[in-house]
Amino acid sequence: DLKDIKYPQRDTKQPERDEKEYVGFATLPNQVHRKSVKKGFDFTLMVAGESGLGKSTLVNSLFLTDLHKDRKLLNAEERISQTVEITKHTVDIEEKGVKLKLTIVDTPGFGDAVNNTECWRPVTDYINLQFEQYFRDESGLNRKNIQDNRVHCCLYFIPPFGHGLRPVDIEFMKALQDKVNVVPLIAKADCLTPTEIKKLKERLREEIDKYGIKIYQFPDCDSDEDEEFKQQDKELKESTPFAVIGSNTVVEARGQRVRGRLYPWGIVEVENPSHCDFVKLRTMLIRTHMHDLKDITSDGHYENYRAQCIQTMTSKMNADKRVESPIPILPLSTPDVETEKLIKMKDEEIVNNAQQQVLHNQDADVN
Ligand code: GDP
Repeated sequence: DLKDIKYPQRDTKQPERDEKEYVGFATLPNQVHRKSVKKGFDFTLMVAGESGLGKSTLVNSLFLTDLHKDRKLLNAEERISQTVEITKHTVDIEEKGVKLKLTIVDTPGFGDAVNNTECWRPVTDYINLQFEQYFRDESGLNRKNIQDNRVHCCLYFIPPFGHGLRPVDIEFMKALQDKVNVVPLIAKADCLTPTEIKKLKERLREEIDKYGIKIYQFPDCDSDEDEEFKQQDKELKESTPFAVIGSNTVVEARGQRVRGRLYPWGIVEVENPSHCDFVKLRTMLIRTHMHDLKDITSDGHYENYRAQCIQTMTSKMNADKRVESPIPILPLSTPDVETEKLIKMKDEEIVNNAQQQVLHNQDADVN
């Protein structure tokens, strides 16, 4: 009975005319929002640069968690011969009901040894390995529960003491530029005066350009964004590479307790925009660009890896007709040389047989 059917309630505040045209897909953003909040978010951040540049302190300041409680620091002798080792820490943080699984990948030993030739290799190998794992999972049977360990961003710490990029900085960023979003930082910026910071930033930007280093580019702002957002975006772009300061201690400044560094001559406040770019970096990483960093990782860097992988497998298969890769192979779109030869032989055989048959029939007719 049609009378008994209960239709879903609609928003009674909506004008009548609108109601008739209301199908319901306007709730799609809410549905997506609910689903992603329920699922939670994940983000993988890598830090690289010589030891002692303040990487752990900065990460702790960024996420307000002590990620390196049981870290063992090596002495000089141990560091001389050290090879780069990769360590991973995961923390679950929650804010207003939104869960974030944060993974920090540290690269102790990078740039510490006497000979740093190709010291970036373990880092690129690690990033590739995560891509490979994802590729396997994605082409395998358990696509629903894929653990995504791909690295979304790499903060690269440049020492504040030099006159620009060192060879090891250039090599590292170039080796990683096509695999991960590289964000260069000027470490321990409290060592420099504002004028020195300005000069060093200009120099670094010039050198990044000159050596063709591809660092993470902030996407252009949409023209319909509000003025405040546009201004924020402009300031963000103009401040690169961010000059940062980290601190694990809370100090008293202007009657408030803040994260900072206490010196005999004053207090350096980590979150004071006139002291350093810490807030800009945190805003960019967490509030405004986390999603873009993840998108570029999966649509850009990972897609490149995936395409290369498939290409290599295809050409390998064409070359020796054997596949040793444990990764499932997609069907080839074009037949290989051997198959084509076989098809050609078969075709010729059919034509020959037909001709023979015709000749045979003609002979029979004559007789
Ligand atoms: P990591 O080896 O790169 O992880 O460096 P750490 O975070 O362990 O820091 C090494 C030393 O530098 C510690 O004594 C820190 O207190 C100090 N430090 C960390 N960040 C800063 C900073 O922004 N400015 C200054 N002046 N010192 C810092």
